[in-house]
Amino acid sequence: MMQKENLFGKTKKELQNIAIGLGLAKFVGNQLAEWIYKKNAPSLDDMHNISKKAKSLLSDQYVYEKSSYSSFQESIDGTKKYLFQVEGGQFIEAAYIPDKDRATLCVSSQVGCKMNCLFCMTGKQGFQANLSSAEILNQIYSLPEFEKLTNVVYMGMGEPLDNLDNVLKSIEILTAEYSLAWSPKRITVSTIGLIPGMKTFLEQTTAHLAISLHSPFEEERKKIMPVEKVYSLTRFLSEVKDFDFGGQRRLSFEYIMFKDFNDTKKHVDQLARILNGVKCRINLIRFHPIPDTPLLGSDDKTILQFQSDLKKKGIITTIRASRGQDIFAACGLLSTKELLKSVKS
Ligand code: SF4
Repeated sequence: MMQKENLFGKTKKELQNIAIGLGLAKFVGNQLAEWIYKKNAPSLDDMHNISKKAKSLLSDQYVYEKSSYSSFQESIDGTKKYLFQVEGGQFIEAAYIPDKDRATLCVSSQVGCKMNCLFCMTGKQGFQANLSSAEILNQIYSLPEFEKLTNVVYMGMGEPLDNLDNVLKSIEILTAEYSLAWSPKRITVSTIGLIPGMKTFLEQTTAHLAISLHSPFEEERKKIMPVEKVYSLTRFLSEVKDFDFGGQRRLSFEYIMFKDFNDTKKHVDQLARILNGVKCRINLIRFHPIPDTPLLGSDDKTILQFQSDLKKKGIITTIRASRGQDIFAACGLLSTKELLKSVKS
């Protein structure tokens, strides 16, 4: 039997076309969009202004499903990691990070990842599947803290721009008037620098962009990020230099600090050189060692010195607070495999 398509994850336009295809009025598509995204209706039955006949036609061919999380772990600092089951029975994770007046959700965009960065647990898992727009949005809509969310970052499992269509669709829906009407300024997408996807993302949205840099030297970056062999930092920097980051749109560079690898004065000087003329900021990130990698994290003193040196060069530099470390939710440690292992043991 053919699996029924989910209404959740479809744009208003697509819902209108579904309505028309079933012989219903186009505005039924508008009503569906509002119930699904604005009112977060639990089921078709809860959509009071949609007729019984329309509901019956819809449910003959479609389902409307948001799926609850399978389990969660809570860190002593309040960070929570939710595990969701997706199509094919695999699991993905979303990390909820409350912080004073902000509450950020870090969502996954793929099951596993193809990019094989040396420092990343998800990379070690290999690639299993792209998430659909419904599976991306479900992490947000099915979150118990949904109402509290102020920001969403696409920094969980996967490389978002390797699943461009579904990521763009999820952003389109989140920011649409018929939905949550979120400002794109509340959304950040992180990439390791996939140039074609990055250009489309920059043209089609105004959400923030975060690029994982981790070294200002091409040869060094190649050692930890195979993507450098295809899309070099020189090339993606030249793309962002040409792009207007005026207004409120933010460009940031993520920089994980590895002991005796990328944390020296030479790196500060080179960062200042390559980022000259780019309106951006750098986020320094502590590295928490993972199994099977020779990399170690820089110590706090080195990180603070690195920050101070970059600031002296005129680059806005922050140190990202490490959150949820005790539940493996810290950046780069999101790995279903590890979670499942820890649950079993
Ligand atoms: S750091 Fe990001 S792009 Fe690299 S392997 Fe991990 S999930 Fe993939």
